[in-house]
Amino acid sequence: MKKSNFYKRSTCRLCHSKDLKLVLRLTKCPLPDAYISSSELHIPQPLFPHDLLLCKKCGNTQLSVVVDPTIVYTNYLYKTVTSLGLVKHFDDYSSSVISSASLPKKSLVIDIGSNDGSLLASFKKKGMRVLGIDPAVNIARQATESGIETLPEYFSPQVALSIKKKYGLAQVITANNTFANIDDLDTFMDGVKIILSPAGVFIMETFYLMSLMKHMVFDSIYHEHMEYFTTKPLIAFFQKHGMDLIDYQDIQTKGGSARFTVAWKNGYHKPSPSVKKQLIKEKLFGVHRLSSFKAFEKRINTSKTQLMKLLLDLKKKGKIIAGFGASSTCTILTHHFDLGNIIPYVFDENTLKQNRFTPHFHVPVLAPGEIDKRKPDYILILAWRYADPIVTKNSKYLKDGGKFIIPLPKLRIIDHS
Ligand SMILES: [Zn+2]
Repeated sequence: MKKSNFYKRSTCRLCHSKDLKLVLRLTKCPLPDAYISSSELHIPQPLFPHDLLLCKKCGNTQLSVVVDPTIVYTNYLYKTVTSLGLVKHFDDYSSSVISSASLPKKSLVIDIGSNDGSLLASFKKKGMRVLGIDPAVNIARQATESGIETLPEYFSPQVALSIKKKYGLAQVITANNTFANIDDLDTFMDGVKIILSPAGVFIMETFYLMSLMKHMVFDSIYHEHMEYFTTKPLIAFFQKHGMDLIDYQDIQTKGGSARFTVAWKNGYHKPSPSVKKQLIKEKLFGVHRLSSFKAFEKRINTSKTQLMKLLLDLKKKGKIIAGFGASSTCTILTHHFDLGNIIPYVFDENTLKQNRFTPHFHVPVLAPGEIDKRKPDYILILAWRYADPIVTKNSKYLKDGGKFIIPLPKLRIIDHS
């Protein structure tokens, strides 16, 4: 592996302290979404460390390494576009922002990392002016063609200056599952400050560390997500930028996210009680304490031991155990739990993943239609957060005598009885 593929970040992204402590070590992993075709099987896939560090000064939690973004995003074949649940999520999102910020019609809403423009489409429907920014050129072009003007750029202070000149200041700036993917957050905020109007709000949705720990979603810890935020360190970070964290909201997407709303420290917006409440919850949970990470690591390792015992027992009896799920999180789970040599094939509904091979272990990905032909004795649901809909959709397999194994948050087996 070439060293230049990644670098080790030795300072906190929020406060720049060097006092970082390793709190969770995860098994090295390839780029988790690099599902490859048969013609690529001979190309070695580099493995990257992805351990979690806690800043002892401000309480921020971040990934130990930064993988060269050109590698991450060149391999980013399957940018997730709108799924059914997300449309409703975006609709609720825009309605709640419009009402809480009392947005007049024609206000400018800018979405950084706007993807296919779904969130902005929802704001536009409600009478707002919208502008997207997304570095994926194809996606930006498609979004523009569908009526959501999208600049094919990485957001930066330079881009912000040109936006300000052409479109004016924004009343709302959103960044969903984008903020945590940025290595240089100070420069990013410098850009936000250039285009945020005095009464404007900056809103970001992101993974929330406390939910991640509570719900055992450790398989969401990988290279794209450099930050695992909590309220306390963010308050100090935004204060440094002359801003206040004015609202906290729990969001039930992706196994536990949060919506943080930020405004200028100028009297237009006062912090809501939700911020203080969350600070107290974080303190009670001990989300910034080393002992909490130790307990988290112990729970992960216990889950792994229990699952391995079950799978090896079944293997000894000659049972075939297939997998279900071919996403990034499935790659992390497969590596950390060392499942690559246990599962002969996995099923996934995503047609773009079918007939490809999982990263590094090269397990073939099949369409769920194959379940009936292959009839594995067990299906281990790697995409365990979606276990309920997967089991419901494949009830015939259960009726025919198949069994599902759900590895997390608590190991269980589902059969027809
Ligand atoms: Zn820090």
